[in-house]
Amino acid sequence: MKRVIHAPRGNTITCKSWIQEAAMRMLMNNLDPDVAENPDELVVYGGIGKAARNWPSYDKIIEVLKQLENDETLLIQSGKPVAIFPSHTDAPRVLLSNSMLVPKWATWEHFRELDRKGLMMYGQMTAGSWIYIGTQGIVQGTYETFASAGQKHFNSTLHGKLVVSGGLGGMGGAQPLAAVLAGAVFLGVDMQKECIEKRIATKYLDVHAKNLDEALLLIEENLKQKKAISIGIEGNITDVLEELLKRKIKVDLLTDQTSAHDELNGYYPQGLSRKETENLRKTNSSECIQKSLKSMAHHVELMLEFQKRGSHVFDYGNNLRGQAQRYFEQEKITSHAFDFPGFVPAYIRPLFCEGKGPFRWVALSGDPEDIAVTDEAIANLFPHDKKLHQWLSFAEERIRFQGLPARICWLGYGDREKAGLLFNELVATKKVKAPIVIGRDHLDCGSVASPNRETESMKDGSDAVADWPVLNAMINAVNGASWVSLHHGGGVGMGYSIHAGVVIVADGTADAARRISRVLNSDPAMGVVRHVDATYDEAKDFYRSLKNPKFKIPMFS
Ligand code: NAD
Repeated sequence: MKRVIHAPRGNTITCKSWIQEAAMRMLMNNLDPDVAENPDELVVYGGIGKAARNWPSYDKIIEVLKQLENDETLLIQSGKPVAIFPSHTDAPRVLLSNSMLVPKWATWEHFRELDRKGLMMYGQMTAGSWIYIGTQGIVQGTYETFASAGQKHFNSTLHGKLVVSGGLGGMGGAQPLAAVLAGAVFLGVDMQKECIEKRIATKYLDVHAKNLDEALLLIEENLKQKKAISIGIEGNITDVLEELLKRKIKVDLLTDQTSAHDELNGYYPQGLSRKETENLRKTNSSECIQKSLKSMAHHVELMLEFQKRGSHVFDYGNNLRGQAQRYFEQEKITSHAFDFPGFVPAYIRPLFCEGKGPFRWVALSGDPEDIAVTDEAIANLFPHDKKLHQWLSFAEERIRFQGLPARICWLGYGDREKAGLLFNELVATKKVKAPIVIGRDHLDCGSVASPNRETESMKDGSDAVADWPVLNAMINAVNGASWVSLHHGGGVGMGYSIHAGVVIVADGTADAARRISRVLNSDPAMGVVRHVDATYDEAKDFYRSLKNPKFKIPMFS
């Protein structure tokens, strides 16, 4: 039987407090058909990133959340509710651990074996930590990346420039809208027609072209007029890249957001139709994996060829280079896969040094008007932040909400605490109709160790040090976050990352204000601490510039 999940709206609750109610609504919201990529399989985004292990686990979690007392904590082990402990009112109501494996066993092969036995699930990042907010969640970060690429490479916006990428899925689907906001002409390629149609329906993509010829005509016309437009075509990105090279099309910026991190279920190898790949995944997984890895190696070679011809090329956090490297090593071929950079060292790290990252919030009332109230309040709170104002007016105009209305804003240390307290005040004074959930992506300044992505090329070589996300999760739990999660493998796949998530509910009470203040201090501060420790001058200067930092760095010099 097909199940359709929608989170309840309004301000009547069925749990024992708003915190449990928030966890329940956010889990349900992750699986709303308007939000999740494949809700029937409990898959939210990122290949097979799930919100709960299976339907019996999902049902039990909902049942438990409804009964959970205000001084109890529910433990979730890879999407399955496993224990309820007495704790205390300031403790998290839910603690989650997803896809964590002992390092020697931290491979997709071993994970899949456990997954088949029903012992684990892949939580990706915000799927398994119940704070996914649809494609909007990544739009601003993607915009920051594209805009920063424009500044760095062209000393301006991306007007009159062509951006090309593969993958228009849950996260990759943000690329067309972000590229248009940054002024570019964008070509996106996806194997799944429904994905392209979904982006058109949700207004993330402007045009669904019939084929590459039609797309190229539109590209030429709009580049000439320096008009921003996004075009999607169905196909395999490697075929399209080959054709673009053959036709000598100048690509200014090239990246990729296919789910390359998952070589079995996330990537379509060249030479097979969609149906053939989907069959092979089931009938001969090892052959499918080999074909995917080979295709990814070729994909990277094509990107390197574009780089040689003058395109600016970067990895967009899907571990495509790492997968290609695996293939080259296996075949004993010298690898140049890492000859183009990842997006964090290329464009984002200076923001991380200031504790800046993808802060987000959700209106539990379900009323878009509540988000309009928060937008206005945030704009007034930071009257001099022009970029933020530009983003908010763009978001109001162009972002169609998916599921519960939500907003994302990249905010840094200090500002996140101010924003959280302001939201709590809006709830307390009934300027919004119900509490607000505050969270963030795991892709953040101090919450992730991922050597091929967020912590690539750290100045002190500490890329693979995973103490940081563990400390991040522990301090946020101690400080009273509403739910805290620790995951493995998100973004880049098994063996490549450890990362933590955090959510805090603004229910308008004085207790919530105290918790918000503590959590929204410690969480972004971990980003500053992490980058000071890694000897970044930008982070040290930022720490020095703080008038009254609410944290100390004992060995700061
Ligand atoms: P998704 O699984 O929802 O979508 C992936 C899309 O890629 C699918 O629509 C699929 O049809 C398409 N695809 C796969 N192989 C293809 C091929 N060869 N040619 C054309 N299309 C192909 O995944 P998502 O949530 O969009 O994430 C995509 C990737 O980006 C993941 O690896 C994820 O970890 C990574 N990611 C990056 C960031 C970031 O900020 N850089 C953030 C989140 C996720």
